[in-house]
Amino acid sequence: MIDFCSQESNPLLSIDAALERIKAAIHPVAGSEKVALKNALGRVLSESVYSPINSPHDRNAAMDGYAFSSRDINHEQPFTLSLVGTSWAGNPFKGQLQPGQCIRIFTGAVTPMQADSVVMQEQVQANGHSILFPANTPSRQHVREVGEDIKQGDLLCAHPKKLNAIDLGLLASAGIDELTVKRPVKIAFFSTGDELTALGQPLAPGKIYDSNRYTLSGLLDDACYSITDMGVIADNKQLLEDSFITAAKNHDVIITTGGASVGEADYVKEILDRCGEVNFWKIAIKPGKPLAFGKIGSCCFFGLPGNPVAVIVTFQFIVAPALKQLSGAPDSKPLQLTATCTTALKKAPGRQEYQRGILTQDHNGEFFVASSGKQGSNILSSMSRANCYIVLPAECKGVQAGDKVRVELIMGAKT
Ligand code: AMP
Ligand code: MG
Repeated sequence: MIDFCSQESNPLLSIDAALERIKAAIHPVAGSEKVALKNALGRVLSESVYSPINSPHDRNAAMDGYAFSSRDINHEQPFTLSLVGTSWAGNPFKGQLQPGQCIRIFTGAVTPMQADSVVMQEQVQANGHSILFPANTPSRQHVREVGEDIKQGDLLCAHPKKLNAIDLGLLASAGIDELTVKRPVKIAFFSTGDELTALGQPLAPGKIYDSNRYTLSGLLDDACYSITDMGVIADNKQLLEDSFITAAKNHDVIITTGGASVGEADYVKEILDRCGEVNFWKIAIKPGKPLAFGKIGSCCFFGLPGNPVAVIVTFQFIVAPALKQLSGAPDSKPLQLTATCTTALKKAPGRQEYQRGILTQDHNGEFFVASSGKQGSNILSSMSRANCYIVLPAECKGVQAGDKVRVELIMGAKT
């Protein structure tokens, strides 16, 4: 099913090669559902949406002022029109405008058929029902024409767009109250390891708190995903196997952390050899070298490293693009920018590194980045302080202060 290279012939797999292989092995989830517009934020459209109406629906005023016909304009000298009524937003003037007449009008109020122009209230002199317009009053100003924003039948949002807040406003302006979107990707995740302790329990010697599950639940917070937190599974073959088989039955994806390297108690590989088609890669990135990917039945499996920083990096650069593909959302490369590094960075050639950094911008708009501190794959504190990755290519042998580097923002971190 999946074309994996053997670890022996190619001990380190480049991240691009890993991404290509994953991309070739997965397909967007089939199946759509109808949702109310108010529940559609972050969902992926499975049908394009066209406007059933013109917007604006009626010609209306863009300013508070006076509406009149441009035929009444006197270009040589100030002129007077008689005030015959008012058009309010939502409550239009109902009469017919005769030559020589104008009405008071407010922003968003319908202009009478005969009135193609609006003058701002500050530019006229009102004296009872007599309104004095200046000589050079322009015609057809401050009027919003029918369909000038959207014409009936125009494409509003093309599938498979992932809907944002602005899209919701656009769709609402056209009166759309229900949409057909891709069903959510069902994702189960759990942590593995005998050393893991649940929050709220005291730490016995040699134990640590399970932080990865909290990171993952935050990273998976997306309207396109429906997540199941399966907790901590101990390093016990039977328990692990049962968990994989149960999760694979009702999910599209399983993500685990820990146990992906081939240590003494790392049973994941052995179990997956029995119940799935999963390969274990050593990817040429740091942190995050060991990674398992494959299928258990029709369910995709990602086995991430145990070290917390490696989990975050492998999620952002490997798992997140795959989940996006599964959700049906369009592929998009995250933006990278160039910054001047203000600290020296150690780096051995061989693997692409994602060092954690703090990105700032000076008053000229120039970007600067500094290391956020210790760079071990277990060091969550410098990861939490960081707002970006400093992406150092495999061949890089280190960075001097003042060198230009590539930077990418951290998913889920504040900038
Ligand atoms: P492993 O991949 O299981 O060998 O784990 C590598 C390192 O990550 C070890 O120091 C583990 O204790 C640590 N680790 C594994 N899982 C978690 C977790 N859920 N939360 C925090 N640290 C973990
Ligand atoms: Mg372990």
